[in-house]
Amino acid sequence: MAQQTDIETLKHQFAEFLRRKQYRNTPERGKVLDRIAEMDRHFSADELYVTMNAKGDRISRATVYSTLDLLTKCTILMKHRFQGESAHYELSSRMPDHDHLICVECGRIVEFRERGIDDIGERVAQGLGMTAVNHSLQIFAVCPDPVTCEHNKGDEA
Ligand SMILES: [Zn+2]
Ligand SMILES: [Zn+2]
Repeated sequence: MAQQTDIETLKHQFAEFLRRKQYRNTPERGKVLDRIAEMDRHFSADELYVTMNAKGDRISRATVYSTLDLLTKCTILMKHRFQGESAHYELSSRMPDHDHLICVECGRIVEFRERGIDDIGERVAQGLGMTAVNHSLQIFAVCPDPVTCEHNKGDEA
């Protein structure tokens, strides 16, 4: 389902952004982007920090946070704020134009793509004299199986 992300293209895009905004491009920042590409899913800043240190990257929490911030600013990352949770990130390129279903019991996140939603967004925006650029939709739901749902609770994925 997830499409192959070209890490070199993303790195180039990030380097260009940093140069334009006059931020320093450090090896740590490049490493953060590498690890994100490896994960290929949603993650929180703390999850990424823990993963990187578990892999021996020795990176500070502050660097992880600031790099995520920069990657979001240059639109390589999408930042989501799911119900009651800390912000989650994902690569914009891994699955364009998708939305999320979130289980209100266990917090499981299901991704889906539904063409009609774009049309609704455009229609609503046009009706108000605006131009739709992007959207982010979260549908709150419950898992079909209460047993599996219970089991999902506390999972970090
Ligand atoms: Zn997603
Ligand atoms: Zn659930």
